[in-house]
Amino acid sequence: MTDRIALSLIVPVLNEEAAIGLFLDESGVVLDQALALLDDGATAEWIFVNDGSTDATEVVLRARAKADSRIKVINLSRNFGKEPALAAGLDHASGDAVIPIDVDLQDPPEVIIDMVSAWRDGAQVVNARRVDRSTDSLSKRVSSSWFYKLYNRVADQPIPENVGDFRLMDRQAVDVVRQLPEQSRFNKGLFSWVGFKVVTVDYERAARSAGTSKWRAWKLWNLALDGITASTTMPLRIWTYVGAVIATIAFLYALFVIIYTVVFGADTPGFASIIVAILGLGGLQLLSLGIMGEYVGRIATEVRGRPLYVVASKVGF
Ligand code: UDP
Ligand code: MG
Repeated sequence: MTDRIALSLIVPVLNEEAAIGLFLDESGVVLDQALALLDDGATAEWIFVNDGSTDATEVVLRARAKADSRIKVINLSRNFGKEPALAAGLDHASGDAVIPIDVDLQDPPEVIIDMVSAWRDGAQVVNARRVDRSTDSLSKRVSSSWFYKLYNRVADQPIPENVGDFRLMDRQAVDVVRQLPEQSRFNKGLFSWVGFKVVTVDYERAARSAGTSKWRAWKLWNLALDGITASTTMPLRIWTYVGAVIATIAFLYALFVIIYTVVFGADTPGFASIIVAILGLGGLQLLSLGIMGEYVGRIATEVRGRPLYVVASKVGF
């Protein structure tokens, strides 16, 4: 029987020199156990996507890849962000099933065993759900819980709460994700849009093994905006109705003022009501223009049609 790559781990890394060794040790043990669940000849590969690291990450990865042919490295030409880095990994993975995973061991590798056994039993997508986020900061937990609530209220296709990028996808699902052409990639949204037979396994989220978190609040906010605007045009359309209601009220009020003035004559100068109306409507218009801008800006990005990432070099392929 010839060897066949059954599992690809996709690992985006940004300045993670301190975390890579430990990750490879732990995930290596787990992969051996997971492969034992599959038929003989099933092997695995690690695809590290070096997302423009400025520390020794590339040196460490090159040395590892030299020592172990299962380790492959894609060096991007600069920092593109985790989402494009994952897209690069999906494009280069050759496994029958693909698992995006963080290098900092916050996505515990042992969950892979549960994922693989669910996959073996027929699941095409296996979501990993965090049941305990006590290792995340309070502000991160609160903002993420608000985000899921808001997102699932407005989005056309809901995403499961507390399921991150860490999940298993079989070849069929991966090939669909790879065909999705959008530039602003909200992976969680894309992954759940794909559908197929989904199973969920639970795990507890660990603390970061080494290094510091690469996500800043502003990046996360933009990711949330990407997610919402990519999944629904509701924020665009809602203004039609708000505008219609306000216009109706304004019309009725104007009618009342005209009749009142004709019958009783003008009394108080209507400075207050005029300024309130001007400010209120002005504010509303600006707000709706801003929302239009969110979408139009994204249309501009899509139309540019640039590649999602630029590969500087590849090792081990
Ligand atoms: N990462 C990346 N590019 C980025 C930001 C992060 O490749 O621009 C990687 C990072 O090296 C890690 C994973 O994405 O493997 C998750 O990042 P991090 O642990 O900083 O995020 P958090 O767990 O705090 O959400
Ligand atoms: Mg992390």
